[in-house]
Amino acid sequence: MVAHMSEPAVASPDAPAYPVPMSLSPSRVGSFTSCPMQFRFSSIQKLPEPPGVATTKGTIVHRALELLFVRPAADRTPAALAVDLATALDEYSTHPDYVGLQLGAAAATSFRAECEGLIEKYFAMEDPTTVREIGLELWMTADVGSLQLRGIIDRLELDEQGGLVVTDYKTGRAPSGRFEQKSLAGVHFYAFLCEQVFGVIPSKIRLMYLKSGETIETMPTPQSVKFITTRTKAVWSAVERACTTGDFRPNQSNLCNWCSFQQWCPAFDGNPDLAETEARAVYDALLEPKPVSLALS
Ligand code: SF4
Repeated sequence: MVAHMSEPAVASPDAPAYPVPMSLSPSRVGSFTSCPMQFRFSSIQKLPEPPGVATTKGTIVHRALELLFVRPAADRTPAALAVDLATALDEYSTHPDYVGLQLGAAAATSFRAECEGLIEKYFAMEDPTTVREIGLELWMTADVGSLQLRGIIDRLELDEQGGLVVTDYKTGRAPSGRFEQKSLAGVHFYAFLCEQVFGVIPSKIRLMYLKSGETIETMPTPQSVKFITTRTKAVWSAVERACTTGDFRPNQSNLCNWCSFQQWCPAFDGNPDLAETEARAVYDALLEPKPVSLALS
């Protein structure tokens, strides 16, 4: 028997306190090491989080670039990308990730302008007419022990020697030198996924930071892929233990400033067992249509 998620986390010799997830993205797995309590809220209880401007902007720009690469190579021009961005903005205009931002007219205009700024930077970084893409927004899965890892590769292409290149678009800030290797650690998962699905380790993984126009590249090796597998298995064992005991401890850090669950976090005197209903109510309220207010003179 599996205890209901909102029940107190009590260890039981017979049953897990929380169901162990069967399938997760690499970043979700990694989030357990940042804060187990946050992982419980987002990946075990699957509580909705209010959308963020930066994330939604990233999603829309990714979609515009996907549309650009659906076009024949010769048609991938700045004007075409501007059309594709308009299409992506239109597609997302009724999506909860955009509606939930509750942007007023001025904020919506600046949101659009920031998206346009990101795609303008893109053309200074590469010439899309020369890219030999073989897959866009590819969903890939691979098993690591009892866990199914799943990830989306923004773009898979061939280099001049026929090797696989994974390209990942980033719309946030590029990491400083000190954190560059840490940011690359995540992308080695893509190499692992390629090895599992295609039987080949990519020759290169590229992170394109559209905001600053920087590109960071890394060459995966069998050792780096093995390291990821070993580390994922270790983290996954810790997740399974936490699900069994119900012991998901909060781990305070700078990330708390951006955590959607702070009000239910015991580290901030919150009650985690109220999150199940309250977080959903907060999210639903965000999506409710707002009454139009009329200015009376
Ligand atoms: S507020 Fe901080 S400690 Fe609490 S769940 Fe969020 S990230 Fe973890």
